[in-house]
This record gives sequence, structure tokens and C-alpha cells, in this order.
Amino acid sequence: MRIERIWHGMVRAPFSETIEWGSGKRSGTTRLIVRIETAGGIVGWGEAQCLIPSTPAVMAQVAELAVGHDVSDVERLHRHVLGAGYYHHQRAAVFAIAALEMAMWDAFGKHCGQPLWRLWGGRWRERVAASAYVFHADPARLAPAGFLDAGFETFKVKIGFDAESDLALAETARDMIGARPLRLDVNGAWTPGTARAQPARLAPLRPAYVEQPLELSDIAGHAALRQCQPIPIALDESAYTLTDVGRIVAAGAADVLLLDPHQAGGLWQVLKAAGIAEASGLPVSLHSGAELALSQAAYLHLAAAIPNMTLAIDTERTYLGTDIAADPPALCEGWFTVPEAPGLGVEVDEDRVEALAVDRIEGPIWTRRARAGSRSSPLTDTARPGACRKDRNPHDAPRRAAGHDTGPEDGGAAGRTGGGPA
Ligand SMILES: [Mg+2]
Repeated sequence: MRIERIWHGMVRAPFSETIEWGSGKRSGTTRLIVRIETAGGIVGWGEAQCLIPSTPAVMAQVAELAVGHDVSDVERLHRHVLGAGYYHHQRAAVFAIAALEMAMWDAFGKHCGQPLWRLWGGRWRERVAASAYVFHADPARLAPAGFLDAGFETFKVKIGFDAESDLALAETARDMIGARPLRLDVNGAWTPGTARAQPARLAPLRPAYVEQPLELSDIAGHAALRQCQPIPIALDESAYTLTDVGRIVAAGAADVLLLDPHQAGGLWQVLKAAGIAEASGLPVSLHSGAELALSQAAYLHLAAAIPNMTLAIDTERTYLGTDIAADPPALCEGWFTVPEAPGLGVEVDEDRVEALAVDRIEGPIWTRRARAGSRSSPLTDTARPGACRKDRNPHDAPRRAAGHDTGPEDGGAAGRTGGGPA
């Protein structure tokens, strides 16, 4: 079951509409796709979020390191890549490791003839609830009615655009969804002063939790925030790696953790992180970055196997108009069904991969935040939409990419361009 050959490339899937958050807008998703082939001819597929150019660049080196590994050696691969120098750049390396590691699990599951959840302790649940993403900076544009009609029971709204819209967005959403769980995601946009002041205004709206109110590195600040206000605190960006999760739990900095295999460096790392949370009585969920079929299926295997994943998982699936598989995991009345086929349980359509291929990352429009020097005015210092916008030409036409191959017969990825990511 040794990996003999690896291909990787990027694909882009447009959204059906632009979604907004505290740092900008997104009109689509770019994903890193990996295909591995073992000496015995088993094919495994993997996928990762691809926001920054370092991801495909690191993938080229990860692929060289992975050739020759047994597909069951996921922990060894993770440590091998970090030990090769990426300890210094762990947050840049995790996405490439995750894509390769997912492909290893897919191949291993196919070799065993078993779905991944069966290799991870069994199926704790047969279907997985999803949270509706209602992402607009303007309260007048919030429209959860379609999600209500589709059967969603949990709702997530982005706030953190400015202090007054925080309240208006939460009030509007609460009016529309009734008593259903309402998550408010700040994406780290609040200063400590804002974070002390806003909960008193939001608490009457009974949020299920406020997600990532402070910057990702401020673990002590989140721990303090849990002690001075009543709304549960969920951490997302702060909880990327296994070490992050250990520090959060030790500090008592969260009531809920959002895990993400792409940001953790693999599915196995998420299973371990969920165990840390379980031992401390914490429920976990999964962060969404617009997963295509492979990552979405991987999420469902994780959710099936992790007992303390008791909360609806996040998903941007409703915004995706296309995919790399003809039959990706589907939502039905706000629920996913856990796959049962071996491996990830996804049949990738390689013609679709080719049709969606790109050689550059496109889509995000970042908004520069105005945080510095603002702590004396905590209720007026969060970023205002449109005030400091820096566009990145998101509408360039996609260009086709041939991707990269790494295998014994081609001498590795170094030096191969083929129109793929440099
Ligand atoms: Mg979040």
C-alpha cells in the first residue's frame, strides 16, 4: 500500500451568490485536489482549503516527501513533513498535509473495503445536522427564509462589521428564525474593549454562542471573556492545530471548539483534538470553508465517529453550484447522510476536475481592518464595510492548469510546471 504516484492541482467553484464576513467577501472557493496511486493500483483522493499561494507550493514538497509512505502511516507523514522544516511554518503546511493525508485515508479505506468511520471507532450517528450560513453585512439583505423552508434548524450570522450592525444583524436574524439556535461569528474583529461591551447588548437575543470574538492568538483574552459575560464562547481560528486545542482547554478559554481538518493538518489530528475536548466535556463542531465533495464527505465521516460532535456542523454547501463529483454529499432538510461506501465514499469525476482547474487563487476580496490604536473607543473601532476595501481583481477569467505529478518515474515535482501553481 505504498504511495507510488501523486498528482495535485487547484480547482475553483463559484458561489451562487457573494457572501460577506468581517474580513471581506467571497464569490467562490479555490481548493487543492490531490490524487494518489499506490503500487497496487489503489487510487485515493484528497482536498484542502486553498486561500494562499503557499498551499500549492508546499504541496509540491509534501508530495515528494510522501512518495514511498504506506497509506496507513498518516501520523508518520504529518511528523515527517513538519520535521522536514515546516515546524517553523506549521500554519502554512497544514493544508497541504491535510489534502495528502485525506487521500491516504481514502486509499486505506478502499483497501480495507470500509468507510472511514468504521476505522475510527464506529458510527456514533447516521446523519449529521448542518448550520445555515446567512452571511450579509446589511441586515436588510439577511434572508434566512429559504433556509427555513429547506428545513435548517441552526443558523449562523456573521457580525464584526461594526458595533451597531452587530446588534441589528442579530436582532434581524432572531426575528426571522424564532427560537432556533443562532450563532454569531465575529471572526476575531472585536477589540478587547468591544468584546467586553457587546455581550450585554447581544445577550437578550440568546445567541447559542459568539464565535471567535478576539484575535486568534488571544487565548487569555477569551478565557477572561468567559468569566465576565453570559454568552458561551466558541473558538474557531484559535483552534487550528492540536497544540492550539490543548492550550485552549488548559486555559479554559472556550465553551465550544470548531475543528477543521485542513487547518489541523489532517483528519487524524481532528480525531485527536476532539478527544481532548471530549475529556474536558466540550462539544465540538466543524468549520466550513466551502468544502467540495471530498472534504464534505470527510467531514461526515468525522462527524459520524466523534461522539462529542453534538452540534450542527457548518457548511457553505448551499452556495456551491458545481462540484468535482456527480453525486456529492447532499443536504436534505438541513441534514447530511453519512456515507457508507469504502474510503471517503466519493466518486470523483476527473472531467469535472479538469473543467474546474485553475492555476491561481481567485475570489476573496479582503477588507483591511482598522483595529490599531482604537482601544480607547471600543464601540466604534471595528472595521466598517467599504471603508478600507482593497480589491484583488476577483473576476479574472480562470485559466486551465495541468497540475503537478510526483512519482518515481518523473523524478518528483521539482522543476515541473505544466501550467500549475508555481
Ligand atoms: Mg468562524
